[in-house]
Amino acid sequence: MAAVERGTDEWQKLDVAHHLHPFTDPKYFDTKGPLVVTHADGVYITDSSGRKILDGMAGLWCVNVGYGRQELIDAAHAQMQKLAYYNVFFQSATPPQIELSRVLSEITPGDLNHFFFTNSGSEANDTIIRMVRHFWEVEGQPDKQIFIGRNLGYHGSTLAATSLGGMAAMHGMGKSLLPGFEHIMHPHWYAEGGDLSEAEFGLKAAQALEDKILELGPENVAAFVGEPIQGAGGVIDPPATYWPEIQRICRKYDVLLVADEVICGFGRLGHWFGCEAYGIQPDLMPMAKGLSSGYLPIAAVAYSGRVHKTLQEGGLFSHGYTYSGHPVSCAVALANIQLIKDENLIQTVHDDTAPYFRKTLTDAVADHPLVGEVRGAGLLAGIQLVKDKATKTLFEEDLAVAVKCRDHCLNNGLIMRAVGQSMVASPPLTITRAQIDELVEKAVKSLDQTAADVG
Ligand code: PLP
Repeated sequence: MAAVERGTDEWQKLDVAHHLHPFTDPKYFDTKGPLVVTHADGVYITDSSGRKILDGMAGLWCVNVGYGRQELIDAAHAQMQKLAYYNVFFQSATPPQIELSRVLSEITPGDLNHFFFTNSGSEANDTIIRMVRHFWEVEGQPDKQIFIGRNLGYHGSTLAATSLGGMAAMHGMGKSLLPGFEHIMHPHWYAEGGDLSEAEFGLKAAQALEDKILELGPENVAAFVGEPIQGAGGVIDPPATYWPEIQRICRKYDVLLVADEVICGFGRLGHWFGCEAYGIQPDLMPMAKGLSSGYLPIAAVAYSGRVHKTLQEGGLFSHGYTYSGHPVSCAVALANIQLIKDENLIQTVHDDTAPYFRKTLTDAVADHPLVGEVRGAGLLAGIQLVKDKATKTLFEEDLAVAVKCRDHCLNNGLIMRAVGQSMVASPPLTITRAQIDELVEKAVKSLDQTAADVG
């Protein structure tokens, strides 16, 4: 059956009539229609009017190998013909799920050689919450139940993942947070560092974890969870001193360390996983997005030998999703990982495109009157917008300065995302130097237009 073709107006009217958009104020559509995306190839998406747009966000930080990759399409097709679905509950398994577990065990750091599959990053974090609480019960420490996360941390939007994250707007909605979750400061030197050097601030931000563990009692704390770089919080890359100190504190109090690799995994920071960029070894690691480059929904929890041993002793693990380890998603993830290897994407990001992106972007925007800070690592960038560079003063909230800039980007043929008063970018790992030049040029033009709006 041929796909239905409609004009942009018609698509937009139908969408607004019947669909509630995630993380979107429905009032936005009183004056504007949604961007209806119909095609994509490489690093470009095409909308329903035929406009080609550079996707500086790789979808939602996920299309790491770029759009339209035949290898992934073929893998899905071939697997659907063989076995479109079977579950991995009880005593069943499928070859793609077995093979994906094996291949993942070769690329995950240290002894994170065991996996549980889910459909989304949120479910992976929910799984970790249940898994870790069960772990401590089996270990004979049933009071170790509290999770510590961070302000502006994002771990998904189920009830448990929202509680684990530190997003005030999400916490406010419905006031329905679960008990057993605590939050500490986030390690943003530019915003919170005061007179401290970057290295000193990293240690201070980590000290907040030790203070919180002592306040709660180490016997009550199950785990600390953080993204190596906070993505949805505005691309906040911590000082180099931060993560090793966090790890030391976790080990000291026997608190499990969870690195949420949903954005940072699969090459985003020029390593397979973000924790490698910061020299730490987590006990558990949720991963999603880049695992299949977003071609099909799949996520996983990687966990260590110690956790595995205890789970073995714990008996029945009463947890799972109908589509855990879906064979087609696993086949696509396998083809995706193979492509990342075959095209040497991680090394290219590490040695070439990430340093080029960083330098080109910084050279082009650091002196811009609207820009307070350019931050990030790998192919992950955040641009802090400020009203006054010298005093780091932000704009009044209702000016919605980043939203203005985001809209200019779109009009200029570029997707960047507005987060608070920051602009963020996370392009496909396949982006070339010439495409980076195009991205930066369009970002500068959009910043200029935004400055004219608010000036
Ligand atoms: N963890 C992190 C770090 C994320 O950035 C996200 C999504 O952006 C999630 C978890 C949730 O993943 P999902 O949207 O697949 O549930």
